[in-house]
Order: sequence, then structure tokens, then C-alpha cells
Amino acid sequence: MHPYIHHDSQQYFAFNIWSIESAKAVMDGAAALNSDVILQTSMKAYELLDKKELRAFVSSYADKIGIHAYLHLDHCKRLDFIKEAIHYGWDSVMIDASDLPLNENIRLTRIVCDNAKSRNVLVEAEVGQIAGQEDALSVTTEGIAKIEDVELFLENTSIDMLAVAVGTAHGLYKGTPLLHYDLIDKVVHLSDIPLVIHGGTGLTEETFSHLLSYRNIKKINISTDVKLSYRQGIEESIDNGYLLREGFDPLKIHKKIHDAIMDMTVTKLKILREE
Ligand SMILES: [Zn+2]
Repeated sequence: MHPYIHHDSQQYFAFNIWSIESAKAVMDGAAALNSDVILQTSMKAYELLDKKELRAFVSSYADKIGIHAYLHLDHCKRLDFIKEAIHYGWDSVMIDASDLPLNENIRLTRIVCDNAKSRNVLVEAEVGQIAGQEDALSVTTEGIAKIEDVELFLENTSIDMLAVAVGTAHGLYKGTPLLHYDLIDKVVHLSDIPLVIHGGTGLTEETFSHLLSYRNIKKINISTDVKLSYRQGIEESIDNGYLLREGFDPLKIHKKIHDAIMDMTVTKLKILREE
């Protein structure tokens, strides 16, 4: 499998998954558009997953449906997990040491790069701090990456993708996020490093288009939307009476959840088509 980011000018959505079923739902959405896709696991989900089985499933199912599907380990703070993910054939890993001083972030990122390069695994790292749902939305200036830090980081590491804190946040936005396009402009001017935008759930189509107009932006992460689709599947199941004790049928519920995740994936991937 070729490493995805350097290979082409393609831009990707990366969807968080936590099981073979959620991976399958996202992949079915991608297949509906004959689109390649990145599946990513949070550190928490990763810890619970059967790594070897998920890797085997994603590879064989992608083959079967005729798409490329890549596995990424998102926001990982543990070097042992990263090492293991590389061992199990994840296509890319993110070392998130963004809460540490820049020097320390650089030091840990270099360790991961050394480890990953020999196995042809891509490395994503974060500069600045992308806010979490607790503080989403007053996040507009706090945590925004400094261009000097980005420069220093890129000079001292050999990462393949940079997650740069530009004002998006994880979780649900409580207002309209203020994106620092000026910072993206500066980074793009500085380097052709592929960029990753976190916190894609809740951004408007207009914002996606604006972001995707930067060809350096290669990966936009969608996590909360996958979870909300799962929830929607459950809600629809309740509305349809599938959760009543009499006639309870897990298969029907499973299908509702699968279809909700699949439909959301299709909706997102269509945005890429419009670019
Ligand atoms: Zn993130």
C-alpha cells in the first residue's frame, strides 16, 4: 500500500471509527462514490480494538469494494501505542505532544518519525493546541499556532503532515468558529507540507470549500459527525419501534446505524467532488 498523502494531489476526509462495523459503514459510503478514504482511531478506541483484525478487515474489504482505505491513529500521546500501530500496519500515526513545550513536542515527534519512516508509515504532528469540546468555542485565539513555532517545528522534524491549530475545535461548535485563514496563508507560504484540519464536524459547506481551496490541506477530520450518525441510527430505530421488547431485532437497528453513518460519509465526500 502506498503512503497516501505524498502520492497525489488528492484531498481526504478522515472519519473516526471504533469498530469493524463503523469502519464498514464509512467504507460503504466511500465505495458509493468510488472514493478513497481515511479511517482513523482515537487513542481510546485504538486501545479497545483488535488491531490485527481491524487492519485485516480494512485491507480485505477495501480490496473487495475497489477503493483504497487507509488507517490512521489520531491524537496519540503514547509512544508504545504508536510503535504498536506501526507494527500492525497502520498507514499513518499522529503524535500529539502539542500540550508540551515546543522543544519537547519536537523531541517526541522526531522519535516517532525515526520509527515510522523505516516502515513507510506517515507521521502527523500538531503545533498549537486544537481546542476540545469543553472549550469549543471561545477558542478563537487561544491555542492558535504561532508561525515561528511552525517554522521551527518543520525545520527540526521530518513529519509528513501538520495539524495546525487554526481555530477549529473538536466536538460541537456552540457558535461560528473563527478560522485564522491568515495563519494558513502564512504556513502555505512557508512550506508545502500537507496540512490537516481537525474539528470538521459542524463546519459549513462554505468553510469546507474555503479550506479545500488550499491545495496543501490534504486531510479534514470528521469525528463527532460519525458519532452523531450512530446516535441518529438509534433514534430512528426507536421511532420505528425496533427497540420494543416484542419483535426486537438487532439486525434492523444495526442497519439503521450503518445507513446513517454511510449517508453522512457520502454527504461529506461529495463536498470533495465539488472542488
Ligand atoms: Zn483532532
